[in-house]
Amino acid sequence: AGDRAAMAEAAAASRPPPDVDTDDCLREYRHLFSPDILAGQVAFITGGGSGIGFRIAEIFMRHGCRTVIASRNLQRVSEASQNLVAATGQQCLPLSIDVRQPQTIVAAVDEALKEFKRIDILVNGAAGNFLCPASALSFNAFKTVIDIDTIGTFNTSKVLFEKYFRDHGGVIVNITATLSYRGQALQVHAGTAKAAIDAMTRHLAVEWGPNNIRVNSLAPGPITGTEGYRRLGGKFAEEASQFDTIPLQRAGNKTEIAHSTLYLASPLSSYVTGTTLVVDGGSWLTSANNFPALLGIASSSAK
Ligand code: NAP
Repeated sequence: AGDRAAMAEAAAASRPPPDVDTDDCLREYRHLFSPDILAGQVAFITGGGSGIGFRIAEIFMRHGCRTVIASRNLQRVSEASQNLVAATGQQCLPLSIDVRQPQTIVAAVDEALKEFKRIDILVNGAAGNFLCPASALSFNAFKTVIDIDTIGTFNTSKVLFEKYFRDHGGVIVNITATLSYRGQALQVHAGTAKAAIDAMTRHLAVEWGPNNIRVNSLAPGPITGTEGYRRLGGKFAEEASQFDTIPLQRAGNKTEIAHSTLYLASPLSSYVTGTTLVVDGGSWLTSANNFPALLGIASSSAK
């Protein structure tokens, strides 16, 4: 009986928390971390109006944090903010930015500081991605992904550094990916962009450590209920039982990414900087890098 209880314990440690596949707040939530772990803090989350970024905002707010959610589509972040406030009772400021345009970030950070007087956490979640073989990728498409993901992450980090973190310290979490680890087919643009962000994480951790700024990357695997999952063949992988090859035998959910982001943003990781936390159920180690099958998904989703 002791063994069975021990096994149940072990299973609980890899059981996913409940989630919903839409950009809505969770219907139920059980705190695993202390509910006030981010009390009094403010997080600036790019891409916070949808998918993984939205859930990060929600979980942070459920732990006492106020948030700024920023992306291009003001209507999207405004609606998201209303849902987040209703579900958590915390404040959330929706702002429009394009991370490719530094002046829009400067204006948003000024507005956020006017409203909240502080920013403690930056989550760089804004990104764009699609499946495309290198031979069919236009010069401009490759450049656009580098502009949004890599340069956008630098632009936002630099503005936050100059406006607040240099003098007050802070935490940066960059949402990256495991695509480059094994040269994922049809992902040269995003894989290159995210690998460069992981490098940036280490450079900035070194330069900004003395200012009490921690900088880390979080690399998700396939995450259900996201644009990434819909666009990059998640449903196909599910139907073809491809997730059986993942060590944990399943895709992850947005709450799992939010929990790991919460760890990296909180004092629980006070001595962690310059590293990449891979949150993928072991996926990159074993998943098939099936070029012909992915080409099939790319051509059917382009129709
Ligand atoms: P998503 O909902 O499409 O999130 C991307 C967000 O970025 C959107 O909210 C979008 O909002 C914003 N954005 C795009 N271009 C922008 C720009 N130029 N300036 C400001 N904001 C911009 O997709 P997701 O799947 O949840 O992905 C979230 C993050 O996780 C991304 O960094 C992605 O690469 C990473 N990731 C996801 C998976 C997955 O399985 N889903 C796996 C690995 C990594 P607007 O359109 O309003 O600008």
